[in-house]
Amino acid sequence: MCGVAGYCGLKGDAVAEVLRMQIELEGRGPHSAGVAVWAPRKGIKGENRLGTASHLAQHIDPRQYRGRVAIGHNRYATRGSLADAQPLVGEINGTQIAIGINGQTVKIGNRDTEDYRKTIKTVFRASSDSETMFHVVSQMPRDDLPNMLAHAMMAMHGAWSLVALIGDGRLVAMRDPWAFRPLWLGQNTNGYAIASEDCAFGEDITAVREIAPGEMLCINPNLELTSTSYRPAAERLYRCVFEDTYFKRETSHGVWTFRSACGLTTAEEMLERNLVPPNMDGVVPMLDSGRDHSSLFAHRLNLPILYGMNRTRLGRETRAFLGNSPNERLRLARQKHVPNPEVVNGKRVFLMEDSKVRGDTLIVCVKKLRHAGAREIHVVVASPPVINPCFYGIATPNHKRLIAAQLSPEEIRVKLGADSIYHLSIAGYQSNYHRLDIAGFRRNLRPRHDVCDACMTGDYPPFTPTGFVPITAVQTL
Ligand code: SF4
Repeated sequence: MCGVAGYCGLKGDAVAEVLRMQIELEGRGPHSAGVAVWAPRKGIKGENRLGTASHLAQHIDPRQYRGRVAIGHNRYATRGSLADAQPLVGEINGTQIAIGINGQTVKIGNRDTEDYRKTIKTVFRASSDSETMFHVVSQMPRDDLPNMLAHAMMAMHGAWSLVALIGDGRLVAMRDPWAFRPLWLGQNTNGYAIASEDCAFGEDITAVREIAPGEMLCINPNLELTSTSYRPAAERLYRCVFEDTYFKRETSHGVWTFRSACGLTTAEEMLERNLVPPNMDGVVPMLDSGRDHSSLFAHRLNLPILYGMNRTRLGRETRAFLGNSPNERLRLARQKHVPNPEVVNGKRVFLMEDSKVRGDTLIVCVKKLRHAGAREIHVVVASPPVINPCFYGIATPNHKRLIAAQLSPEEIRVKLGADSIYHLSIAGYQSNYHRLDIAGFRRNLRPRHDVCDACMTGDYPPFTPTGFVPITAVQTL
């Protein structure tokens, strides 16, 4: 996961607008942040730093970065070193270009991206697939740079929601034909904005619509906007459902509706299967996304929401999931979560989590709640177990790291130290897909057919890496 932002306006404050949006999108990538700005006669200038967008904003001197068009990128390092910070700034055919990409390409032509990268003769500065894409663009027949970008993307398979800044001041935004990752267009009185999520726009910018699958937007410094379908939308879209379950910010379009509905369906299923333990005292949400899921879950079971797990000040924008190693994830989870004994002491509680991937955070939180005196802890997860890796931008590259692909439900319960564990069924999860609204698309979303849930079902797009065999079913309680 990464976050991208772009702004093209009439004033010279494009970097300030982009940084403001990047800070709103900080949860999508804490490992590095960068901006690139364009000004007439000065061309493109960029600065990337390790750390968050807030950290970058503290070190940018706005006087040195005045310009009307800018892009920004927050990086979550799915692969490569942290030195792969974006936007990547370079020159193709004598014209400057800067690119920031959210997503991951799987294939270039018929070859796995990794394989392609190993066999071409060129010098790579870093190790991300984004740099490989940059290389592919440079190999296209000489043309106007947005056309070269479009041609390059014709040969690719995978996920990309990208922003690019061209040396003549044009801002470009492109989304892959499968619509894996979100990308929004916004507008205010001074210009146009692009962002991974509409929550980044805040009060100053009005969300116009999502950028459509296979669409390229090009905005010039005179604020003339053109929209091109550079590649037909795929027959079947693969919009990432995990974005709505976990990654997107709670205030982004449609997120609360989907999450709360999944919480409600989880409660309905547990009632139907007689799995609600007697004498429960309440529901403890696992922070923000767990809070959304808890709302209708608790309402349906007629239980209060108990704020028995809180976020420390240090953990405000920390995602333990994004830690680079098991130890770092455990450290982040410990640092981020703090129980409130006054709320949970002596209580029988449901601990409500949005999803369970590696299980690190749940292990820490169940232990903390026990220590705070909780009498019974019943873990409830409002999505099916993640049993397969993601190749489209989430850091779950193989089965080994996924707890549900390695252990039985009973083994997981024991490992977590919980009294019971319940996952929303796949059928129950999919029954809420019709709530996933893609605002502004030219066609309506077809529930079950236009959503990617491969990490939970094994239903991958046709271009999975060569030789990979997905798990298609897992035992649940
Ligand atoms: Fe999203 Fe999972 Fe599909 Fe990856 S495999 S794009 S995380 S739903």
